[in-house]
Amino acid sequence: MAPHIVYPDAICPHTGCRQQMQAIDFRLEAHGRSVHDPLVRAWWEDTGFVGRCPHCGGWIHFTIRAKRVVTAEEAARYPQLPDNWHALAIIL
Ligand SMILES: [Zn+2]
Repeated sequence: MAPHIVYPDAICPHTGCRQQMQAIDFRLEAHGRSVHDPLVRAWWEDTGFVGRCPHCGGWIHFTIRAKRVVTAEEAARYPQLPDNWHALAIIL
């Protein structure tokens, strides 16, 4: 099953950022199998993956349970969404 999620908190977890980000359909299939396969695996293994907020540019760790702020250093340890992930995802 493809990663899509509804989080309890409606906006980006970075302080002061108003980017709406409650429901996300990541649409990983739109990036091809080399992106889709490892990220879907990481999602369901509960490792999750990281990507940058399209508004503030801050790194966010997305999992089944939550989205949280991570530093660039922490983000480097997780599977990463492509830079244009938000252009292909559905973010509500
Ligand atoms: Zn943000």
